[in-house]
Amino acid sequence: MGRDMNEHEEIAKALKARLSELRMHLAKVDRELHKPLSADSEDQATELENQEALEVIKKTETTEIHQIEAALERISEGTYGTCAKCGEPIDPRRLKALPTAATCISCSA
Ligand SMILES: [Zn+2]
Repeated sequence: MGRDMNEHEEIAKALKARLSELRMHLAKVDRELHKPLSADSEDQATELENQEALEVIKKTETTEIHQIEAALERISEGTYGTCAKCGEPIDPRRLKALPTAATCISCSA
């Protein structure tokens, strides 16, 4: 494989690390969400509020996981760093700031 492969190896490594971190955290969130509610109604109200917050976290993290998986797929396919819309190369500075970016700045606007 050529130069690009090595170029993205570091990114893939970082993305994979982030992915396992997210999955681990998500499993924890899931366990919290499946905990039985307290019998006390006041405690229950707090717990339900917590669960709502956890649902939001779960949604955000699930989205990030999907974005990372898609980015890893683009790396293995060799399309990483190319805009999915216009086919132009994505600015490396953009990729550095947002490694999961699938489109260039003009297409994401
Ligand atoms: Zn574009």
